[in-house]
Amino acid sequence: MAQLTDDCFAFSGPLLRLDDMERLIAARITPVAESETVSLGDARGRVLAADIAAPVDLPPFDNSAVDGYAVRHADLAPDADTRLAIAGRLMAGRAADVTVRAGEAARIFTGAPMPAGADTVFMQEDVTVEGDTVIVPKGLKRGANRRLAGEDVPKGRVVLAAGAVLEPQHIALAAALGLTTLEVRRRLKVAIFSTGDEVVEPGRPLGRAAIYDANRYLLRELLERLGAVVTDLGILADEPDVLAQALQAAARGHDLIVTSGGVSTGEADYVRTAVERIGSLVFWRVAIKPGRPVALGIIREGAGSAAFIGLPGNPVAVFVTFVRVVRPLLRRLAGARADVPTPLPVRAGFAYKKKKDRREYVRVALRRSADGQIEAVKHPQDGAGVITSLTQTDGLLELPEEVTAVAPGDTVGFLSYASLIG
Ligand code: AMP
Ligand code: MG
Repeated sequence: MAQLTDDCFAFSGPLLRLDDMERLIAARITPVAESETVSLGDARGRVLAADIAAPVDLPPFDNSAVDGYAVRHADLAPDADTRLAIAGRLMAGRAADVTVRAGEAARIFTGAPMPAGADTVFMQEDVTVEGDTVIVPKGLKRGANRRLAGEDVPKGRVVLAAGAVLEPQHIALAAALGLTTLEVRRRLKVAIFSTGDEVVEPGRPLGRAAIYDANRYLLRELLERLGAVVTDLGILADEPDVLAQALQAAARGHDLIVTSGGVSTGEADYVRTAVERIGSLVFWRVAIKPGRPVALGIIREGAGSAAFIGLPGNPVAVFVTFVRVVRPLLRRLAGARADVPTPLPVRAGFAYKKKKDRREYVRVALRRSADGQIEAVKHPQDGAGVITSLTQTDGLLELPEEVTAVAPGDTVGFLSYASLIG
């Protein structure tokens, strides 16, 4: 992070485009290097530190995918039923001690090893058993219902790459390969606080002209979902000295500090001034709506330093800038590979005008219209302070920089909240 200071995005310069911001994050932020070993049960949400090559074939041996009868495909009559002698029985978990010879079949159950000689399995529903023989129909392909050793993962193949964020399915794969622990990057330590003389902790008396703090609660949940260890430093007054001191103290022992409020151009917006006193800003305006004032910088403390992100004060702007600015930065710092969520095409059910050259996120609910298409309906309240516009909708439409209007029926890109905060 230290080289972030020689900056090409001057304060008075143009708004920083989101794709330029993503490039900046990729080029200038170095992930934390330390890693640790965790058991599979503690691995969910962690970032894999090194590639994992399969130590064994998966599955480890040829086996049956169904309950039925294993046969030699070469024995089967192409145009008629075939009668075969039942030569043995293979159960899951028992070694295959049966050989199927010409004219024979073996009773087999799902997961049991394929007997020597057999290459194809009939489902039990498709055959007729008469005494010690089984009659199988024509038409089954060679190899049907047989799972080959290594067909899922051959031994030696890299199946999980460094930078993967471990989800339940990744952990299941590691377990299937016989692994018991995984090497992951250390968790990021993130400090958060809210700013503003009007902001009050929930549960305290609400004075005149005061509002309860929503942002710290939002940020804590969002950060913890991304695997960070969060230190909540409370609410700070709009006083430059208080802010500078608190920021500098937080730089000790944290990788990242996230604040909300106090970063626009109002007279009481002291966060920026404070950061410039104890560190430096890389940018403070991003071409995004809601949320244009969002500051990225670095705060120094002794020999060390912490990254700093100052988010706007309005809760909806906090949410949007978190998912489009904090999340990519945090993933980069954590050593996770970049993943920009892909918007899914839906039909706009509303008309909308927007300014060129900034990316805009519109809160929408999805509904199925009469012709079966999925339609996005804009929330009636646009304000960046309207928290119910987040709780009454399903996600955000992403309107690219060059778009200036949306008409009903247009195809637009939808990002579900679930895809944005995972
Ligand atoms: P600011 O960027 O500090 O001017 O704040 C913009 C708006 O967001 C103001 O109306 C603030 O009262 C509001 N706001 C700031 N911090 C919070 C918070 N922690 N929770 C809820 N609203 C806030
Ligand atoms: Mg404020």
